[in-house]
Amino acid sequence: MAEIHTNGDSKSSFKIPEVKFTKLFINGEFVDSVSGKTFETIDPRSEEVIANIAEGDKEDIDLAVKAARAAFDHGPWPRMSGSERGRIMMKYADLVEANIEELAALDGIDAGKVFAYGKIRDIPFGLSVLRYYAGAADKIYGKTLKLSNQLQGYTLHEPIGVVGHIIPWNFPAGMFFFKVSPSMAAGCTMVIKPAEQSPLSALFCAHLAKLAGVPDGVINVVTGFGPTAGAAISSHMDIDCVSFTGSTEVGRLVMQAAATSNLKTVSLELGGKSPLIIFDDVDVDSTVNLALMGGFANKGEFCVCSSRIFVQEGIYDEFVTKFVRNAKGITVGDPFDPSTLQGPQVDKVQYEKVLSYIEHGKREGATLLTGGKPCGEKGYYIEPTIFTDVTDDMLIAKDEIFGPVIAVIKFKTIEEAIARANSTSYGLAAGIATKDLNIANTVSRSLRAGIVWINCYLAFDADCPYGGYKLSGFGREFGLEGLHKYLQVKSVVTPVHNSPWL
Ligand code: ADP
Repeated sequence: MAEIHTNGDSKSSFKIPEVKFTKLFINGEFVDSVSGKTFETIDPRSEEVIANIAEGDKEDIDLAVKAARAAFDHGPWPRMSGSERGRIMMKYADLVEANIEELAALDGIDAGKVFAYGKIRDIPFGLSVLRYYAGAADKIYGKTLKLSNQLQGYTLHEPIGVVGHIIPWNFPAGMFFFKVSPSMAAGCTMVIKPAEQSPLSALFCAHLAKLAGVPDGVINVVTGFGPTAGAAISSHMDIDCVSFTGSTEVGRLVMQAAATSNLKTVSLELGGKSPLIIFDDVDVDSTVNLALMGGFANKGEFCVCSSRIFVQEGIYDEFVTKFVRNAKGITVGDPFDPSTLQGPQVDKVQYEKVLSYIEHGKREGATLLTGGKPCGEKGYYIEPTIFTDVTDDMLIAKDEIFGPVIAVIKFKTIEEAIARANSTSYGLAAGIATKDLNIANTVSRSLRAGIVWINCYLAFDADCPYGGYKLSGFGREFGLEGLHKYLQVKSVVTPVHNSPWL
C-alpha cells in the first residue's frame, strides 16, 4: 500500500490557500449566527481542526428565508429578463472558473477530495451546469392553448419562489452548482445549507456570487447541522420548494416535514446500490478499468458508485484477477499529492461505518480479495476493498456503504443478471458492458434505475436528466427537467369573439 502523505509532508507544490469565509451568508453579508455558536470543521487528512464555522439554527434560517422572500417578492432577480439573469450567471461562472484551484483546495481539505479531480472534473462539471442553465434562463416559455367554448389560453412558467437546498458532503462545490444553477435560471431565490462536514466551498461560492452581481438575498448560505438548520428548512412555512440530496433516511424526514408544514414541493436524490453488469463479450482489460472507476471514484463516496459488479461466468476468473491486481495499484494518500488517486473518507463517522461494513462482510462469509483495512498513521484512509462470494442477502450487497468497498458477483444468464441487479431497494444508476446491441437494449429497458450507462460509467452531462427510482428518490437534476421543478405553471384563460362567456 502506498505511503500516506498528509498535510505537512505532501509532495505537492501547490500552496493551500487560507480559509477566508467562516460565517453565514445572509442578504449579501457574512454574519455570525444569532446564538454566536460555532462548530469545528475537521481535515480528514490529519483529523485536525481547519476552522470554526458559524453554527446556524432555526433563527438563522428564519433570517435567511426573510431575505430570500424579500428578494423574491420585491427584488430585481425574478423580475429581470431571463437574458439578464443568464448574463449574470455567465459572469458568475467566469469568476468560479478563475477560482477553480481555491475551490478544489477547499474541498480537498474539508472533504478529502483529490485536488486534481476537483480541478479537472468536479468543479468544471459544476461550471458546465451553471453555464447550461445560464443559457436556459431566457428560454423559459409556456404553451398557447386552443380551448373549447370559444376560449383561448396560455400557460406562464413562473419561478416557484423561495427554494431550500440541502447539500451533502461528497461533492460540496459541484453539488452547490447542481442545485443553485437551475433555480437561479428560473428566477427563484434560495437558502442553501451545506453539509456540516464540508461547509467551506459553499461560503466561498456565496462570496463569488456577490462579486458577479447576483442581487443580495438571492443566494443565502446557512452553515450548520442537519437536525437543526436542515430541519428548519424542510419544515419552514415560507419556503416553497426543497431540494435535498443525501441519505434515504433523512430524505424521508424532509418529506414528512414538508407534508406537515406548508406542503412545499420536494425533490429527493437519495442513496444507491448500483449494479454494473459485465457480459462475456467485452474486452476484459478496458472493462476492468471502467469498473475500477465506477466503483472507487471519489473513494466510493458517490451515490451512483457501482458497488455491485456482476460478471458473466465465461470471463469471471480473468476479470477478478485483473480487477484485484489493478485495485492494488490505486494510490491512497494526501489529496494534494499529484500521484494520489484516492483520498481519506470524509470524517470519522463515515470511516468507522465503512470499516464496520467490511467486518460485516467478513463475518457473513464473503471472501475478502484485497483491502479491508485502514491505512496511514493518521487521517481517515481506507484501502480499496473487494469482496467475492457475496450473496444478495448479505448486508454488503444490500446497504449503501458509501466507501471504497465493492462486491464482485458471478452470473450465468441475462435473465439472472437483470433479476439480481434489480433486487435492491434502490434505483439510482446502473451500467452495462457488452458489445452486443441486443443485450444492451434488452437489459437497459429492464433495469429499474434513473440512469443507465452502456459501455461507460459516471458519464454525466448537464443536458442529461439524472435522478432515482424506488428508494433512490424522485425529481430530476440536470436537463430541462431539472429546471422545471423550480417553475410553477399558471394557466391564463380568456374568451374570444362569439364565446358564450361574453
Ligand atoms: P449522510 O448520511 O451521507 O451524511 P445525510 O442525509 O445525513 O447524509 O446528510 C445530507 C444533508 O442533509 C446534510 O446537509 C445534512 O446536514 C442534512 N440533514 C441531516 N439531517 C437532516 C434533517 N433531519 N433535516 C434536514 N436536513 C438534514
